[in-house]
Amino acid sequence: AAVTAAAALTLTACGDDKKDGASGGDAAAKGKIGVILPDTKSSVRYESFDRPFLEQSFKAAGVKYDIQNAEGSTQRFQTIADQMITNGVTVLIVDGLDSNSAAAVQRKAQQQGVKTIDYDRLTLGGVSDYYVSFDNVKVGEELGKGLQKCLGDKQANIAYLNGAPTDNNATLFAQGAHSVLDKVGTYKKVAEQAVPDWDNQKAATIFEQMLTQQGGKIDGVLAANDGVGNAAISILKKNSQAGKVPVTGQDATVQGLQNILDGTQCMTVYKPVKQEADAVAKLAIDVMKGQKGETNGTTKDAQGKRDVPSVLLTPIGVFKDNVKQVVTDGFVKKDELCKGAY
Ligand code: BGC
Repeated sequence: AAVTAAAALTLTACGDDKKDGASGGDAAAKGKIGVILPDTKSSVRYESFDRPFLEQSFKAAGVKYDIQNAEGSTQRFQTIADQMITNGVTVLIVDGLDSNSAAAVQRKAQQQGVKTIDYDRLTLGGVSDYYVSFDNVKVGEELGKGLQKCLGDKQANIAYLNGAPTDNNATLFAQGAHSVLDKVGTYKKVAEQAVPDWDNQKAATIFEQMLTQQGGKIDGVLAANDGVGNAAISILKKNSQAGKVPVTGQDATVQGLQNILDGTQCMTVYKPVKQEADAVAKLAIDVMKGQKGETNGTTKDAQGKRDVPSVLLTPIGVFKDNVKQVVTDGFVKKDELCKGAY
């Protein structure tokens, strides 16, 4: 395919994109896909899974792309978006830090004729054309059902460590978890707090305070992801309660899976991120070609009073007895887990 002058400039500016012109055909010559990931600390998923899976999909399709990480800074997020638009991105995939800053990025993109897709987190009050994620209420239900399975139906004091208050997913996870656990008559919520920025250190501090306030009497911890769960486990360890108090998690990280095999974590929610990355890549490529993207539903953005056409995928609860599934799926390697216990 012919490489235009503008495309050639972009190619020299971005080492990553060397192969694009060569294998991309017409689609590659017409546009470029930008992806902004939120941070590197709230979960290992972004650099370990999302980025490589997205790269794989874009390379396979032979399209031009640029993937960057805002490293937890909303200012950096905005700067990256501006630069991407200047450098010819025509579709921008946004995994926002918070809805306000992500919505500002989307409005600016829209003014420049750039389509935006919300990735994993919905931007409330945003103007995205599409949303790709897992069914996040279902993720929360899996967390709730998981904790219930580990606790049984005995009397139990439950502490909730929710995700960042600025992350719409965290609201949905908590909603899903409560919809299951609040129905169990023998359970009592004794503490609930959101962890700012999903910060694992803050999670440990918050949980330590909860445990002190309850005089050590917490019987189950609904932790919204593996990092936050591991923070709670570290405090339970100090208190010689690890393994006795079930803790949930999410993301099927090596750490989380190892905790499950150790018996210090009850379960994790495995979200096959490859499916999510593949889905957003396909959608972005269709949009880049001026086609309508395929979706399987809509998501209500109550703040923006809009229904966003969505691709929503199904999460999977993982316990000691099906950790192997995550390995068979190729998400983590057996060696990485370092233990043959499963
Ligand atoms: C994602 C989770 C992740 C969390 C922290 C959520 O929006 O859905 O997979 O663990 O953010 O990054």
